[in-house]
Amino acid sequence: MSHSKSFLTYLFCLALLTPVSWSQKVIVLGNLQDGGSPQYGCQLNCCSVPQPNEYISSLGIYNDTSAYLIDATPDYVIQAQHLERIARSPIKGIFLTHAHMGHYTGLIHLGREAANTRKTDVFVMPRMGEFLTNNGPWDQLIALENIQLILLSPNKQMLVDQSINITPLLVPHRDEYSETVGFLISGRRRKLLYIPDIDKWSVWNQSLELLLKEVDFALIDGTFLKDGEINRPMSEIPHPFIIETASLLASLKTEEKNKVWFTHFNHTNPTRFASSKDRKELEAQGYHFASFGTEFNLED
Ligand SMILES: [Zn+2]
Ligand SMILES: [Zn+2]
Ligand SMILES: [Zn+2]
Repeated sequence: MSHSKSFLTYLFCLALLTPVSWSQKVIVLGNLQDGGSPQYGCQLNCCSVPQPNEYISSLGIYNDTSAYLIDATPDYVIQAQHLERIARSPIKGIFLTHAHMGHYTGLIHLGREAANTRKTDVFVMPRMGEFLTNNGPWDQLIALENIQLILLSPNKQMLVDQSINITPLLVPHRDEYSETVGFLISGRRRKLLYIPDIDKWSVWNQSLELLLKEVDFALIDGTFLKDGEINRPMSEIPHPFIIETASLLASLKTEEKNKVWFTHFNHTNPTRFASSKDRKELEAQGYHFASFGTEFNLED
């Protein structure tokens, strides 16, 4: 056998022996409620000093070949650029949870006045799709083919890229312009649940406790710590208070509580800050708090 032939055989054997490395990760690109912080009109301490790397709630999903966003927030530019840098891939698609300002208005950056993208896939539920199709300026993104809508169905898994499956789960929320979904992201080995907005766990037709058993990570609505946190009737903007969620899950083993990561923090929520006493108590019970750059590996 010639030298070059044996070298080729060596390379071939090496390729067979080397396991294929698939990376599948989810990264937190923002952890704040829709209005962000500093929030317009807030004179309180919570917004007096802008914190580094605090953006409106969004996730990035990426593997060896592609990158996807969950929600297009008002902080879209920073978040999309960060995701593309770490994924080393342009964003192929965006999944939208609902039509509240923190979750879709970043689409504006895909239009003619800005990036002028070409047919970026935007995955939507039917009412969300109708809202974008029938209202300016979003209809122009569709007319000029900056984006193309891909319809999702509730509870129906969609294979988006090399074994990353995404399933929308309808959740009760103030659905003025669209329905609201959370997403179940299933990678090759691990599953992650993402529900940034829901009215209350008790009015959902699914059980958070049961879902927790099925998933490895759950990033869930932590908008408010408790009642009375803001100076207006909180029943008008219902969310499960973190202390309600902690009491709902109180009987679970620490191992199950460890799966829970709170996110979507209102500017007034003290647990936004790592130094918060309430946060330290909840962390001692096993809960986590999501922040920019937190990563979840769906592969190992
Ligand atoms: Zn929100
Ligand atoms: Zn504030
Ligand atoms: Zn909302």
